Amino acid sequence: VEQDWIKIYGEVALTGKPNNFVNFNHNTQRHYETTAFSPKKGQFAMLFRDIEESRQRFKTLEQEIDKRKKAQKTLGKNETMFKALFEQTGGYCMILQPTENGMPYIIDVNQAACDEHGYTRSEMIGQPIIMLIKESEQMIQKRAQFIMSGKTLMIEATHVRKNGSTFPVSVCANLIQFDNEPPLIFTVEHNISAIKNAEAQRKQAEDTAREHLTQLAHVSRLDTVGEMATGIAHELTQPLTAINVYASAGLKLIQKSNQPSDLLIEAFEGISTQTIRAGDIIQQLRKYVQKESTKKTPTDLNNLIHKVIYLIESELKEQAIKLHLMLAAQLPPVIVNDIEIQQVLVNLIRNAAEAMKQCPMDLRQITIITCISEPTIITVTVTDTGTGMDKDTQEHIFEPFFTTRGNNGIGVGLSISHALIQAHGGKLTAQSQIGQGSSFSFTLPIKAVQLEE
Ligand code: ADP
Repeated sequence: VEQDWIKIYGEVALTGKPNNFVNFNHNTQRHYETTAFSPKKGQFAMLFRDIEESRQRFKTLEQEIDKRKKAQKTLGKNETMFKALFEQTGGYCMILQPTENGMPYIIDVNQAACDEHGYTRSEMIGQPIIMLIKESEQMIQKRAQFIMSGKTLMIEATHVRKNGSTFPVSVCANLIQFDNEPPLIFTVEHNISAIKNAEAQRKQAEDTAREHLTQLAHVSRLDTVGEMATGIAHELTQPLTAINVYASAGLKLIQKSNQPSDLLIEAFEGISTQTIRAGDIIQQLRKYVQKESTKKTPTDLNNLIHKVIYLIESELKEQAIKLHLMLAAQLPPVIVNDIEIQQVLVNLIRNAAEAMKQCPMDLRQITIITCISEPTIITVTVTDTGTGMDKDTQEHIFEPFFTTRGNNGIGVGLSISHALIQAHGGKLTAQSQIGQGSSFSFTLPIKAVQLEE
């Protein structure tokens, strides 16, 4: 049975040296511990001990040991993995031990947390968490209580470094429970300075834009008042001059009459003086509301258009208006008052948006085009796909106080824009087809740049 019996027999019987080996019996399908020995010289005997059961037990034991070894290896691997996770998660990890007084203390912390806070690990371990947080004791206790109730705490907080400087963090803290051990708190934090800075910058930009819009509105209101006062002054000058002429003529007639009445003379002189005074007051008022000479600087119109879009793009988005820009590359600069030309563009774009309120949303489009239309002229065009204007309306749009928008319009936007463009040596014109949309264009002379320079 699987053994070289002749050889074993020969060796044992001849040398008298026993031989131990394990033999498998195919008939019984069992293993036997076998001792071949020689009781007397030349004799051969064999002892068999059935070891099948102990072999099986051993095998099971061996398998068990193997399994345990493997498990231990995995456990070791897991531990290494958890350590790596703890260290390399990309945030500041801390394990905290809750206490009866409600102030958790640190029992472990990763290297990133140590580096950011400026402490060594041993300086942090065993310390109450308040050493890292710029917050009152009560607030931290309250938060710990919240976590102890099994909820996840997700907040923003301010942390303090060893050197006293602070930084904002996002905090995610949970209760960890395992193996009937007392629960622990696990927190992962991230430095959110960059996000906070970006937020602050965005807010600052929004504030600036809002301020700018207010400034534009202010300019617009001032212009409105100025336009009104100028208009009234202009209208009143003529009747006042007429009154003065009539009063002087009346005075002369009375003086030439046979019996000139002193009272009448005095009255007519009074009318004349007061009329002149009224005229003076009006002239003063005109001077007062006349715009101061505005500061003009070399300006890239394409840039200016981008500035205006930045200001009102949220309004356009709200109305689902698509904006197309067709801006000529490398426009020469024009010398303009930035705010005034921005105001003109804001007016034109707002009017365009207003004219598209009744249109289906997917048809609302504004196109802004810049081009050098003549060797010395830049033309800016704002086109919309709105209601358009009939011939009659088109004739009046640049007149002050002309509006088709009832109580919603004042009717000064276009007249002011017209005046502003004229003051820059350009022209504001409109083209429109009812039901098709409108196109407002203004020109600005490039020549002015060289002249002013
Ligand atoms: P308001 O907008 O206060 O009415 P405006 O002077 O800006 O004053 O405009 C005068 C009028 O010109 C408007 O009431 C409107 O009838 C017409 N208008 C201006 N822009 C457009 C446009 N893009 N499409 C159609 N009509 C327009």
